Amino acid sequence: TTVFVSGATGFIALHIVNDLLKAGYTVIGSGRSQEKNDGLLKKFNNNPKLSMEIVEDIAAPNAFDEVFKKHGKEIKIVLHTASPFHFETTNFEKDLLTPAVNGTKSILEAIKKYAADTVEKVIVTSSTAALVTPTDMNKEDLVITEESWNKDTWDSCQANAVAAYCGSKKFAEKTAWEFLKENKSSVKFTLSTINPGFVFGPQMFADSLKHGINTSSGIVSELIHSKVGGEFYNYCGPFIDVRDVSKAHLVAIEKPECTGQRLVLSEGLFCCQEIVDILNEEFPQLKGKIATGEPATGPSFLEKNSCKFDNSKTKKLLGFQFYNLKDCIVDTAAQMSEVQNEA
Ligand code: NDP
Repeated sequence: TTVFVSGATGFIALHIVNDLLKAGYTVIGSGRSQEKNDGLLKKFNNNPKLSMEIVEDIAAPNAFDEVFKKHGKEIKIVLHTASPFHFETTNFEKDLLTPAVNGTKSILEAIKKYAADTVEKVIVTSSTAALVTPTDMNKEDLVITEESWNKDTWDSCQANAVAAYCGSKKFAEKTAWEFLKENKSSVKFTLSTINPGFVFGPQMFADSLKHGINTSSGIVSELIHSKVGGEFYNYCGPFIDVRDVSKAHLVAIEKPECTGQRLVLSEGLFCCQEIVDILNEEFPQLKGKIATGEPATGPSFLEKNSCKFDNSKTKKLLGFQFYNLKDCIVDTAAQMSEVQNEA
């Protein structure tokens, strides 16, 4: 079975590619340049079941047409992971919203044009950002479930970069569900979405840490580089290990019960205080060198400062245990310290 993975060079997607290959799938990935694609193929030891295509910018009209013109008849499953995830912009439409929405639209349009009879399943990597309005994140009594939607509009989500990113995930996911509704009779595929919280966990290849770090892993990296007595912003929200995010994509492919579902991936809430506590407790080389904040206050902080997530439906559908925060952070930080010591 051949699977197409958009944005294959990303933090989450590299784990997905690895798991797909291990499970025996043939994988076609897309990356933004020949150089990035060659680098990826080399990392996977030029595995003959893996090939790469260039999709330079998912914001461009018909961005995926060439790929599906060429491979449409082979591809049975499409995992759409590519989407901008960063906050370094003030042009929110151009850099976040438009690529997220256009990318989703153009991959589905390309399937309709060139692979309507062959693609059976599409899994879109959405986010908990599509479920909750950022300004509601601190509402202690709010419970978010698989049915929830971020209420921001195209305009209101442009208040700042974080809101715009969250909006980009909401509007991209909406685009996918609406496309399927409107095109039910002209395509064969079913749709599921994977909606992860903040994703931590080790990089598939440690050397990714040397070329600029992805946004969610950057949170852990900043805490590792915090200063004794220093302050840190106590980010909080649902978290999930990248290895579980990848596994969930494979389960979504393989378990028919996941068809048509939004799969919300969270093992619980985290806040940076809890991460700092884990770093100080588990890494003797960091103790006394990084911030401590107010140890052990994480759970009470979360109780009062964060909305709650009930993803029991997803946990039942997926049927596997997620990594807990301690194991996730220990594995993340161990890899980061190792790479640093080498440098
Ligand atoms: P990465 O930034 O590592 O991966 C994003 C991928 O999308 C990269 O391969 C990137 O390519 C590609 N991409 C971004 N913009 C464009 C564009 N305009 N044209 C073509 N390709 C593009 O982040 P993650 O792995 O963390 O994210 C993967 C997916 O998971 C995204 O959809 C993200 O929204 C979602 N997600 C992530 C969470 C997290 O905490 N990490 C939480 C919830 C959802 P390049 O690097 O070459 O620019």
